[in-house]
This record gives sequence, structure tokens and C-alpha cells, in this order.
Amino acid sequence: PPDVEQLGRATWSFLHTTAAYYPERADPTQARHMYSLLSALPTLYPCSHCASHLGECMKRNPPDVSGRAALSRWLCERHNEVNVRLGKPSFDCNKTDERWKDGPLD
Ligand code: FAD
Repeated sequence: PPDVEQLGRATWSFLHTTAAYYPERADPTQARHMYSLLSALPTLYPCSHCASHLGECMKRNPPDVSGRAALSRWLCERHNEVNVRLGKPSFDCNKTDERWKDGPLD
């Protein structure tokens, strides 16, 4: 089975970075593809309990794919839901760009 921690770090890195470079205002094609990408995760993500939690979260909070600010915040909030569940500190969602776009890598 995959290493859930390493897979998680790699996946969050991909998702947050993709959100950070998503267009300010997505056109309908971009929005449709982003919605498909995110919607696929509860079915395809290779950690079944992670996938089912994510599916529940996404039912309560459907993704906002209108543009980068809203998408980055949505993703930050979903990641924080996982952080809280795992007893990790919450991340300040005002610092998403600093972490994933403008700032130095950690
Ligand atoms: P990670 O949580 O992987 O974070 C990586 C980096 O992202 C951090 O170092 C920090 O710089 C930054 N970051 C942290 N929080 C945020 C935020 N809110 N917004 C933006 N940037 C942030 N693991 C389980 O054990 N059980 C689960 O149910 C589970 N569900 C998951 C669901 C999904 C969709 C994903 C992608 C992962 C899931 N994981 C789950 C894995 C878990 O979230 C972590 O990736 C893993 O525990 C490694 O944690 P980490 O402390 O190295 O940092």
C-alpha cells in the first residue's frame, strides 16, 4: 500500500501549487476541468479512508472553481479539516500564496 504521509505531502503540494497558479478568473473550460479533477479524488485517491473523508467534506463544501483566490482558500480549508482531524496545527489561509506561490519552499 502507498505511504499515506508521503502521498499526502505530494498530493497537497500538487493541489495547492495548481490552485496558486490557477487563473484569477477561470474560463468555463478551466473551471470544468478543475471541478472534474477535484471531484475524481474521492473515487480515485489511493488511501480509502482519506478518500471517503474527502468525499464527505466535499459534499458539505463543494469546490469553488471560479478563480485562484477562492480555490486556494477552499483547498486550504479542506486541508485544515484534515489537519484538525489528525491533531496537526491549522494553517493560516491568508498565507497560502506565501507558502505555495511567492515564498521560499520549506
Ligand atoms: P501536510 O499536511 O502534508 O502538508 C504539507 C505542507 O503543506 C505543510 O508542510 C505546510 O507547509 C502546508 N500546509 C499545511 N496545511 C495547509 C493548509 N491548510 N493550506 C495550505 N498549505 C498547508 N492522512 C491521514 O492519516 N488520514 C486522512 O484521513 C488523510 N486524509 C487526506 C486527504 C487528502 C485529500 C490528502 C491530500 C491527504 C490526506 N492525508 C490523510 C495525509 C495528510 O493530510 C498529510 O499529508 C500527511 O499526514 C503528512 O503531513 P505533513 O505534516 O507532512 O504535512
